[in-house]
Amino acid sequence: MDVLEFLRMEVRYLKGVGPKRAQLFKRLGITTVLDLLYFAPRRYIDRRNITPIHDVKRGAEVTVAGKVLTKGIKKVRGNLVFTVIISDGTDWMELVWRNVKGIDKVFNKNDQVIASGRVYVYRGTKVIYHPEYEIIDEAHPQGNRIMAGMLVPVYPSTEGLKPRFMRRLIMEVLEKIGGEIPETLPDYIRNKFGLYTRKEAIRLLHFPHELKQARLARTTLVFEELFYFYIKLLEKRVESKGLGIPLEVKNELTKKFVDSLKFELTGAQKRVISEITDDLSKNTPMHRLLQGDVGSGKTVVALYTMLVAVENGYQAVMMAPTEILAEQHFLVMSEYLFPLNVRMALLLGKMRKKDKQLAIERIKMGDAEVVIGTHALIQEDVEFKKLAVAVIDEQHKFGVLQRAKLLEKGFENKSPHFLVMTATPIPRTLALTIYGDLDVSIIDEMPPGRGKVVTKWVKEGRRDKVYSWLFDEVKKGNQAYVVAPLIEKSEKLEAEAATELYKKLTEIAPEGINIGLIHGKMKKDERGEVMRKFRNGEFHILVATTVIEVGIDVPNATIMIIEHAERFGLAQLHQLRGRIGRGSKKSYCILITPSKVSEDAKKRLKAMVETTDGFKIAEIDLEIRGPGEIFGTKQHGIPRFRIANLIRDQKIIQQTKKEVEKILAFDPFLTKPQNRVIKETLENEKIGEVIYVG
Ligand code: ADP
Ligand code: MG
Repeated sequence: MDVLEFLRMEVRYLKGVGPKRAQLFKRLGITTVLDLLYFAPRRYIDRRNITPIHDVKRGAEVTVAGKVLTKGIKKVRGNLVFTVIISDGTDWMELVWRNVKGIDKVFNKNDQVIASGRVYVYRGTKVIYHPEYEIIDEAHPQGNRIMAGMLVPVYPSTEGLKPRFMRRLIMEVLEKIGGEIPETLPDYIRNKFGLYTRKEAIRLLHFPHELKQARLARTTLVFEELFYFYIKLLEKRVESKGLGIPLEVKNELTKKFVDSLKFELTGAQKRVISEITDDLSKNTPMHRLLQGDVGSGKTVVALYTMLVAVENGYQAVMMAPTEILAEQHFLVMSEYLFPLNVRMALLLGKMRKKDKQLAIERIKMGDAEVVIGTHALIQEDVEFKKLAVAVIDEQHKFGVLQRAKLLEKGFENKSPHFLVMTATPIPRTLALTIYGDLDVSIIDEMPPGRGKVVTKWVKEGRRDKVYSWLFDEVKKGNQAYVVAPLIEKSEKLEAEAATELYKKLTEIAPEGINIGLIHGKMKKDERGEVMRKFRNGEFHILVATTVIEVGIDVPNATIMIIEHAERFGLAQLHQLRGRIGRGSKKSYCILITPSKVSEDAKKRLKAMVETTDGFKIAEIDLEIRGPGEIFGTKQHGIPRFRIANLIRDQKIIQQTKKEVEKILAFDPFLTKPQNRVIKETLENEKIGEVIYVG
């Protein structure tokens, strides 16, 4: 077996692994031998120095070695704990676990143990709570060699896979093929950034002699991973060059549209529009991400962009993530476009068959110039006559694949210009990573004259007060949303919760206050009717599920009450709050929770009360949840990195992107000798595949 085949081999075929352990590895994201080699230690325990127990000091992080004298379960302040007493001849100390289950079986009297951790002194006894530990195994001297006198790798929680087993396995693999692991980065790049060779990096990642080495090893592998991520991403751009549809601003429809607005465009909107029209005029398709906080006025920009296509004789399309939002866009845009004689079509999944057929026909014939819709737009049978601009609203709700599908709706091999919009504020550098194939425009200015939004966190004991205040406000002519508790993954239960809340409010509301209800289980016509009535003021209060989370725009609504706010994510709360504060009046967002909430929920609620700045919210969200959860599982289509960390590795992200752009500008098809290794790595499918996961 050559080394590449060995690297691609599944770990289950390694000696001592087998199908059962392979399952455990899978949970850690490890399938192949290469995955195993790239499995980075969380940290290292310094076992170069073993401290005699006699010299162990309170508060210090130490490694001790000793023999088990006794073990047992005892009660401390009413809780059961498991303790092991070890001695090394200079003194004795205790190792303590608060969770008794399982651990008591691990140790036996006279076992030789190495343990690391911070030292506490409890009633005169030296204690390490939950130490990193290992029992020295007389039968496996190799295992012992790994432990003593080194920096020992500690891997992310490997339930069922003993630390010593992991270490030994990785060491065995390295001993077998460590020296043959092929290089992937060109020498000139490695030298420029002072990186290790790949084989050095992999070895030192697991078994460094100095922490410094471990850090550079990690940096090298992160660099490699991101380097190939960008090569693959940006290469696609090179391929798609020359297939665009150049569009000039004719100042016909576009000018009439801007003149018809009841407001001045903000400076940020004007700037972004000029960035976009610049792109449109080119021979290559635009790929642009438009980022702007909720309420910053992205729709107008999108509409302008679409009208450039129409005034050049082409079609434009906008895809929205929910039917309610698509309907609203259609309504709002009709108001602008009807007077301009622009022909529109709406396409939703749940439309009556006849209407749908008609819409599809009009899109195909080119009769519909501006098309609005949901996912229904990316169905097979939807064809455009000559699509030049495609817009995706609230793009974070879509996956990369759906994005790509819309782009396939071009004609004669031409790719439409592409604008994706999102209010989910992602720190700029992060946006560059995730949307590395997109240019980024940011609307960083709110339209003037917006009223302030005050946010209050209220415990449910004061709920009655909140609602009587609400009814008073409504009598003064203000409108409100009341959001029912989020029920994860069940639109049905969520709809029921909203219905119940609606009934309750209807019972307690004073005469003359009209309440509407909207949720995802309602029929389209019914929903449209409710939204219409809320928009024109017939309903004073709208009880809703999270279906109103994105895009809904009713400027007279100034109150947002969220029940069980502790259940919502921070980004979601911010989006919901974005439904108010759209007019000139002062607005209120009330977050109702039980009296006790989790620590994380507390952080989210506090952040909401303290700031309305979407970028700050995003950063706090990132802090609380970590990028894995935000950009990992929830958002499909976003690359999962094997070793790179989107937050920690910002600097390398920027370095690699810049470097790859330079390389591709100079050598777009990677044919120069110094870049041969890149080409080979990509072409030799075996390697390319294993390097880039996601
Ligand atoms: P979002 O960026 O969240 O999609 P919208 O495009 O829905 O925001 O805009 C929110 C509201 O602001 C709409 O009612 C829109 O008409 C209004 N708006 C947009 N641009 C301006 C502007 N320059 N001045 C005043 N109001 C504006
Ligand atoms: Mg919007």
